Amino acid sequence: MIKLTIIYLKEMIFLSKIITLESIYDELPNYPKFVEGIRRAPKREMTLNQADIKQALKNALRYIPKKWHDILAPEFLDELLTRGRIYGYRFRPQKNIKGMPIDHYKGQTIEGKAFQVMMDNNLDFDVALYPYELVTYGETGQVCQNWMQYHLIKKYLEIMTDEQTLSILSGHPLGLFHSHKLAPRVVLTNGLMVGLYDNMHDFNRAQALGVANYGQMTAGGFMYIGPQGIVHGTYSTLLNAGRLKLGIPKDQNLKHKLFISSGLGGMSGAQGKAIEIAGGVGIIAEVDLSRIETRHAQKWVSIVTNSEKEAFDIALKHQKQGQAIAIAYHGNIVNLLEYANTHQIKIDLLSDQTSCHAVYDGGYCPVDMSFEERTALLNEDKQLFIHKVNETLKRHYQAIKTLTENGTYFFDYGNSFLKALYDAGIKDICRNNENDLDGFIYPSYVEDLMGPLLFDYGYGPFRWVCLSGKDEDLDLTDEVAMSCINPHRRFQDNDNYEWIKNAKHNQLVVGTKARILYQDAEGRLKIALEFNKLVRDKKTGPIMLGRDHHDTGGTDSPFRETANIKDGSNIMADMATHVALGNALRGMSLVALHNGGGVGIGKAINGGYGMVLDGSKRVDDILKQALIYDVMAGVSRRSWAMNQPAIETTHTFNEHHNKASVLMPYVADDALLTKTLESKGIKS
Ligand code: NAD
Repeated sequence: MIKLTIIYLKEMIFLSKIITLESIYDELPNYPKFVEGIRRAPKREMTLNQADIKQALKNALRYIPKKWHDILAPEFLDELLTRGRIYGYRFRPQKNIKGMPIDHYKGQTIEGKAFQVMMDNNLDFDVALYPYELVTYGETGQVCQNWMQYHLIKKYLEIMTDEQTLSILSGHPLGLFHSHKLAPRVVLTNGLMVGLYDNMHDFNRAQALGVANYGQMTAGGFMYIGPQGIVHGTYSTLLNAGRLKLGIPKDQNLKHKLFISSGLGGMSGAQGKAIEIAGGVGIIAEVDLSRIETRHAQKWVSIVTNSEKEAFDIALKHQKQGQAIAIAYHGNIVNLLEYANTHQIKIDLLSDQTSCHAVYDGGYCPVDMSFEERTALLNEDKQLFIHKVNETLKRHYQAIKTLTENGTYFFDYGNSFLKALYDAGIKDICRNNENDLDGFIYPSYVEDLMGPLLFDYGYGPFRWVCLSGKDEDLDLTDEVAMSCINPHRRFQDNDNYEWIKNAKHNQLVVGTKARILYQDAEGRLKIALEFNKLVRDKKTGPIMLGRDHHDTGGTDSPFRETANIKDGSNIMADMATHVALGNALRGMSLVALHNGGGVGIGKAINGGYGMVLDGSKRVDDILKQALIYDVMAGVSRRSWAMNQPAIETTHTFNEHHNKASVLMPYVADDALLTKTLESKGIKS
């Protein structure tokens, strides 16, 4: 009897720990109403055969108590056939989801509550691109695969203790496992594939089957802070493009200069705001009126027009007067550029930020059709859609070629645009006229600008979120961060100082009370320790620290973050993997590692972190180890690749950190090597 009771009690304890959808919903929720005007994702590619479709249903029904299978099996099949994926719409909460103040959430740990804030912010109607399909930004970047996973992750975060770690695999919460107080509370990966299958075709199949999630960078890493997250980087990129390519002195801005680009979506939406802050004039082409309206309502673009003539007239007037302005052109970028060529309009800086990482999945709109026609064609005739995309890319390339021949500086903005041109069959885009192994004839923004001027020194997109949701907390953190910067050390520090000084005035917040501020290793640590002190002294509520994956060490991406790595290791993904592992072993609260962030599956490995500041000494200790490692692992790798600023930065690091010892390269003399080769008859 006693034995039976013990078994029964053990069983009860075991069962109470098992998380199911029934512990969230007593009964099957009603099918939700979709709010009008909220953008919906286009149908995704789904080419599963009959056996695969059955498997996809089985996979999705794993989350569903059996008593609801007869209702949900046909419903899920319908979602798969009409939308290409099973999202489990029925389980989406009926209301808008918002990243609420941390006290609003249940949890055993501050981290468990904090990551719920972050997840919810990524799905806010005002923040997310396709909130119903869990897409935060970048056309396809999802928080997790479906709404069942969303609930289960949140439930696990609620019950997680400070001796457990939650493992999340492509949005699927595998479960809580015993760890220790200094371990990460969440470790997550998105879309990591075995090399042989690391391509779009197999990835699409895996997604349709419900076993893979494309997390972009901060969407699936729970660290998105709205388009502000990229405004600072875009501002620095544009300023430095002006300095390097237009001869603008380091203490001046882009007054009188014209910048043209496309995209006013999740990340690309930053472009208008950034050019205005940098003092220049910008025209940003966007085919989707709803995205223009969002940016216009936020005052991130000032004027909207669908006339190329009007756009350029307004731009030229403002250029002459030296007044900054961001103009949204409602139309296709190709039409805008062809107009500029026909009318011989001088464009100073040119880029593109359409979603070319998913160029055939809706990320890039063919010319001579509206956005709505593009969506219909994508659903009805994918082959014709692909053909039209390729034809448009060819016209786009011709327009850029003419402009650059007339003095425009064009750069790839990390969206795989040049790779898309190459994939469309344009061979002359390759440096070697044949393949992409030696890169492309136009630079990536990292190759020319961000790499040598920022990443090689360790400057990267440090960010924080005031989890209290209070404006006062954000104001105080802005002030404290500013006091940590010496604007006279380097011109980069001065840019960052100016940025944070004007951050509040520039009204950058969308969603949670967040801030981005580019900083190097020492800068990040100094600010982080001051912030943890603010929390300890109860001057602010808890703070979430993080960064974009798009950083010095976070991402291996030969067409982007590591485009200025020239020792041949740009095709390796060791650095991003090490940074993620190193951050985990040093105790960052959340560690993420993804496939394809920014540029698409198979083209990058990228990782990020989240670190919750609770004011404790434990957190101080983790910051001292992890923040420095996170940045300096990247700078050291850049140093080993023989990038001069990184060599200098690493040398200083070796001198000042007695617990670190980084191997330094001997850099061979080019002339000596040429002579050695020639002595054996090897000619260039
Ligand atoms: P998004 O899909 O939200 O926005 C892209 C926008 O381009 C859409 O609004 C779309 O309507 C518009 N568009 C598509 N084709 C067009 C055309 N021919 N003419 C005019 N407008 C067109 O994506 P996003 O989040 O803004 O990201 C854009 C790209 O940048 C993605 O490929 C993403 O991976 C990449 N990215 C870059 C960085 C960076 O630091 N540079 C960071 C993250 C992402």
